[in-house]
Amino acid sequence: MIRFFNTMSGKLDEFRPLEEGVVKLYTCGPTVYDYAHIGNFRAYIFEDLLKRFLLFKGYKVKHVMNITDVEDKIIRAATELGVSLQQYTKNYTDAFFQDLERLNILPADVYPRATEHIPEMVEMVRALLDKGFAYHKDGSYYFDISRFPDYGRLSKIDMDARKVGVRIDSDEYEKESVHDFALWKAQKEGEFFWDTELGPGRPGWHIECSVMSSKYLGDSFDIHCGGVDNIFPHHENEIAQSEAYSGKRFVRYWLHCQHLVRDGQKMSKSQGNTISIRELTTEHGADPMALRLLLLSTHYRKMLNFTFDALHQAGSSLQRIRDFLYELETRSFHEGDTAPVEDLLRAGEAEFESGLGDDLNISTALSAIFGLIKKANILLSREEISVKGAVLLVAAVRSWDRVLGILPAREPQVLPDEIKHKIDERERARAAKDFALADSIRDELLARGIALEDAKEGVRWKTVPPARPKK
Ligand SMILES: [Zn+2]
Repeated sequence: MIRFFNTMSGKLDEFRPLEEGVVKLYTCGPTVYDYAHIGNFRAYIFEDLLKRFLLFKGYKVKHVMNITDVEDKIIRAATELGVSLQQYTKNYTDAFFQDLERLNILPADVYPRATEHIPEMVEMVRALLDKGFAYHKDGSYYFDISRFPDYGRLSKIDMDARKVGVRIDSDEYEKESVHDFALWKAQKEGEFFWDTELGPGRPGWHIECSVMSSKYLGDSFDIHCGGVDNIFPHHENEIAQSEAYSGKRFVRYWLHCQHLVRDGQKMSKSQGNTISIRELTTEHGADPMALRLLLLSTHYRKMLNFTFDALHQAGSSLQRIRDFLYELETRSFHEGDTAPVEDLLRAGEAEFESGLGDDLNISTALSAIFGLIKKANILLSREEISVKGAVLLVAAVRSWDRVLGILPAREPQVLPDEIKHKIDERERARAAKDFALADSIRDELLARGIALEDAKEGVRWKTVPPARPKK
């Protein structure tokens, strides 16, 4: 059984998709007005873990992630710089896709952009107007939350605090201000607008997700994710718009990821303590896969505290897995039975899968891996692993990595000629007992990320991660 904590029900619900074997998943994507920071990526990594686990369990997953390329901050910034919205957002959109790749996040099936769905948004606003859920005021259109009795069910807000007849134009607002919200905003002097049958203006933020999710996944779908910040008002408003429009239940499972804090403080642009993936990987030399493991390794419903020490520890843990695979893939093993390895795998596999099936309990899944490595290393030291046993162990770790995604094929399969020559030169130096030269070649290669090891099978090499990230 798979169960997830559903923000809507407030409890762990057994997961059953609408259509057998298929999961329709919508995740709120980035607002491309700046580089996304690791706090944003914590949510994308959690969603990637969820998706990979569902794939691992044999589901087909249809995944849609929107790109918000029009909203208040983007319009303000582009207007100030005198460039088009597209010109302004292109750089950040490209950077976002590069970061996804860097962190080995599986691509979504569709990345719809808000600016490419204006006619559909206009159509939904018009339909809401016709059904009596929306009204027109001073060139803008608002959703009338008093017409939607279920408003507040997801965020459990206090509807009594609502000020009747008060409207709010900004896309983000606090729980204390429960108001009618903008579906379509009238054009402001000097700002970008679309000339539509609703009049000149631009869409509110929330309507884009309602429109693009129903366009690509249908009126009802299985899972909708985001950060806890999105619960109110964004997701509350999406539910109101979509259900008022279609008359159907919008989403069955709402999954939300907690904040990432940095040295105990919430990471946000307004706090000025953000750090981007590119800063970490280029300026601080962080291994993207260590970063991925760090972001994965705290349960998604718990606050994650980012520190450089924690990143360093994640790097060491990752190295333990890499070293383990390296041993298994490069050592020679004797013939023999696989019983001791199979016993380890049976226990490990059960722990890994039942952990993740229980609301993505990552601690259990990671302890399955590290527990297996610890026990298998004991067998290794006693030479109790056979050729077939080694193959089974490698296959198990690689198959679990389909879920974790921390061991992409990054080792170069072929060494550059220049490195091969260096290794040969060192062998010749060793044969001539010129150990000073041999050691200096080894150190030179190590500095370039190639570690040599003299084993009974001959010289072995592996790539090694950069030294401890600079602070
Ligand atoms: Zn959204």
